[in-house]
Amino acid sequence: MKAAEIRQTFLKFFESKGHQIVASSPVVPGDDPTLLFTNAGMNQFKDVFLGFDKRAYSRATTSQKCIRAGGKHNDLDNVGYTARHHTFFEMLGNFSFGDYFKHDAISYAWELLTTKFMLPAEKLWVTVYAEDDEAYEIWNKVVGVPAERIVRIGDNKGGRYMSDNFWMMGDTGPCGPCTEIFYDHGPDVAGGPPGSPNEDGDRYIEIWNNVFMQFNRTEDGVMHRLPKPSVDTGMGLERLAAVLQHVHSNYEIDTFVALLAAAKAAVDSSGAQDCDKDSASLKVIADHIRACSFTIVDGVIPGNEGRGYVLRRIARRAIRHGYKLGARTPFFHKIVAELVNQMGEAYPELRQAQARVTEVLKQEEERFFQTIANGMEILEAALVEMGKSGSTVFDGDTAFKLHDTYGFPADLTADVCRERGVTVDQAGFEAAMTRQREQARAAGKFKMAAGLEYKGQPTAFHGYEHLVCESSKVTAVYVD
Ligand code: ATP
Ligand code: MG
Ligand code: MG
Ligand code: MG
Repeated sequence: MKAAEIRQTFLKFFESKGHQIVASSPVVPGDDPTLLFTNAGMNQFKDVFLGFDKRAYSRATTSQKCIRAGGKHNDLDNVGYTARHHTFFEMLGNFSFGDYFKHDAISYAWELLTTKFMLPAEKLWVTVYAEDDEAYEIWNKVVGVPAERIVRIGDNKGGRYMSDNFWMMGDTGPCGPCTEIFYDHGPDVAGGPPGSPNEDGDRYIEIWNNVFMQFNRTEDGVMHRLPKPSVDTGMGLERLAAVLQHVHSNYEIDTFVALLAAAKAAVDSSGAQDCDKDSASLKVIADHIRACSFTIVDGVIPGNEGRGYVLRRIARRAIRHGYKLGARTPFFHKIVAELVNQMGEAYPELRQAQARVTEVLKQEEERFFQTIANGMEILEAALVEMGKSGSTVFDGDTAFKLHDTYGFPADLTADVCRERGVTVDQAGFEAAMTRQREQARAAGKFKMAAGLEYKGQPTAFHGYEHLVCESSKVTAVYVD
C-alpha cells in the first residue's frame, strides 16, 4: 500500500465511524504563540478541547502536516540517524470532542490496524499510563491483547505527569494519559520492547498514540480538568507505511525512495561524483526538503529569528550535507519538483507554491554556498600557514572564528582538516566557545515568544549558529 492509499484508507475508515474529514491546518499555527510549528494533529482543535470553540461535529479525522524541529517535541538531531524520525511528517488522527472516550478509541484503533491494514496482532505491543487501569482492562479484556504485551509506563522521568504515556502538546495546553501502539519489526533489528532499558532502538517502533485528553495545564503547572473528556490520536503515516510496505526504515517507503533518488541526482548534478546512495547525509537532505518546502508554502522565509531562523537552520543543515557529499553549486532546490510529484496531490498548496519554494531555496543556497566559499578561502590560507610551521593541529581559535564570524560550520572545518591529515584543537575551540557564550549571557537573554526562549546576543546576533533551544537542552547547535 502506497503512502497515498494509506492516508485515504485511514480517513475513510474514520469517516465510516461518523468522523468529519477535516483538512490539515498549515504548519505555521494561526494564533498560538506557544507553538513554533504545528507539532500534532490536535493543534488545530486546541480550543475545541479547551471548550473555547465549538464545531458542527463532535468527531473529526485528519492527515496533519507536522514539524518537530524545536520546542517541546524536537526531533531535528534524530533525523537521518534513526529509522523513524523526521522533521516534517504526516500525522493521521481521529478526534472525539466530548463524544466517545477510551473504549471506542481503543476499539477503533485495533479494528483499523488488524482488519483494514491487516497487521498481525502478535506483532503489536501496547503501553498504557501506569495508573490507567481502565485502558489496561480494555486492551486486555475487550480487545484481547495478552498481558505480556501490555506495558504500564510510569512517571519515571522525574515527576508526576512526566511519563511518555502522559502526552502534552507543550508546557501548557491540553494533555492527558495516553496509550501507545508499537510494532515489532523483528529480531534482525536492535532494540528492546517499550519500557525496557534499550527501548530506544528501532526494533519496537511506536506507530500510534491515543491520548485521553482530560486536563489543561496552565503556566503555573496546575492541571485543570477539561469540560469534557476527549480523545486525540496521532499515527505517523511514514511509520505505518514502513510496516505496510514490509520495510524497516521510513526512508525505504515509496515517498522516500523517490525523494532519495531525486536528492542523489541533484547532488550528483551539482558537482558530486556518484555520491553514496545509502549515506545518512542523503537521508537528511530528503527529510529536510519536506520541512523546508512546507514551511515556505505557509509563508516563512529564511531569516535570523523565529521561524525564519529555524527554516534557515534546517536548509543550511541540508546544504551542508550536500556539500559533504561533493555538491559545489546549489542542488537543494532541484528536489522540489519530485516532492511536488510525491505530495502535490494530497497537498495542492504545495503544487501551487512550487515556483516560489524553488526560488526561495535557491537564493538561500546561493548565499550559503558563498559562505562556504569564503570560509574555505580562510581555512585554506590558515592551512598554508600551518604547513609552513610544520604543525598538524589546527588552531581552535581560528576554527571558532570561522564558525562564529563567518558562519562556516565547525564540523566542515573538521572534515577538511581530516582530509589534510590535520586535527582541530577541540579544547581550544570549546574554550573560545565558552568565552563567547559567557559574553552572550552577560549581554542578556531575549524571548522570541512565550515558551520558546532563545539565548543569544540581543544586539549583535551572529546568525544561526548560536541557537539554544531551551526544551531540547542543547547548549550549542551547529549547522550539522
Ligand atoms: P517517539 O517516541 O518515537 O519520538 P512520540 O511519542 O514523540 O514518538 P507522539 O507525540 O506520540 O510521538 O506522536 C504521535 C505519532 O506521530 C507517533 O506515534 C509516531 O507515529 C509519529 N511521530 C512522532 N514523531 C515523529 C517524527 N519525528 N517523525 C515521524 N513520525 C513521528
Ligand atoms: Mg518523540
Ligand atoms: Mg514516544
Ligand atoms: Mg508517543
